[in-house]
Amino acid sequence: MRAAAFHESKHLQATALISSSTCPVCGASDRRRVAPIQAEPDVWLLTCRRCGLASASHMPTREALEEYYSRYYQQNELGVTFVGKQAFAKNIAKRCTPRRILDFGGGDGSLSKAISPTAEIVVVDYAAPTGDSRVTLLKELSEASGSFDLVIASAVLEHVPEIRITMERLFRLVAPRGLFYARTPYVQPFASFGRVDVGFPGHLHDLGPDFWNRVIETFQLQAVLEASRPSIVETSFASHPVRTLAAYALKAPCHLELLFHRNPWWRFVGGWEVFLRFR
Ligand SMILES: [Zn+2]
Repeated sequence: MRAAAFHESKHLQATALISSSTCPVCGASDRRRVAPIQAEPDVWLLTCRRCGLASASHMPTREALEEYYSRYYQQNELGVTFVGKQAFAKNIAKRCTPRRILDFGGGDGSLSKAISPTAEIVVVDYAAPTGDSRVTLLKELSEASGSFDLVIASAVLEHVPEIRITMERLFRLVAPRGLFYARTPYVQPFASFGRVDVGFPGHLHDLGPDFWNRVIETFQLQAVLEASRPSIVETSFASHPVRTLAAYALKAPCHLELLFHRNPWWRFVGGWEVFLRFR
């Protein structure tokens, strides 16, 4: 598992790209061009008419992705970059009291620790061991076993080339009556202003309501969509006043619309989050 926060764009040569002719989630070939995300060789953001996923028309080769992330790990300390961590933790904790948490791409596990002071935490990421006996670090999702009352995939699914198998694994790990939380970038509405910088090849997918509102049907889940809405604002007024005010202003009309219907017209929100309650 390669981690979350990095999404600096990088131009890839043709030899570093693999053309992806079908939707990586549902396999449909009926996809619509949304916006160019790289030129020469051209890479497009495409949306799938069946499952609503937006994805890059070309995926990076494994070698290209390794090279991209190795630059990141040379330059950055790994950790949760989310500024308003306590508010974010509360956003999740008010819906559940987990005994076991799986935090996919969760860095050092600090978000999960903030959600619960007592839960056993399994983090799938390339972080350095924290020395905290509550936290088990795994390198790959396939190593996770058992079931979890809470499965978190915050700002991580957009990085994963094999998104379908990853999501299937995550869903299988949710306990009966457990909660699945995901937070994903959703920038495709901004494409109507021209080229959109999705952060390719760090970000390979863009997931908003068109995808999340259909996810139960797409993956045939025994679950209920408890919430599907603009993601929580990532910054605080104390640290980034202008950016925080702009984020609230952009998200507010969408929240207002969601009081009345599930498919908002105003979608300039930048990110989406969902809570799925399993049966
Ligand atoms: Zn699809």
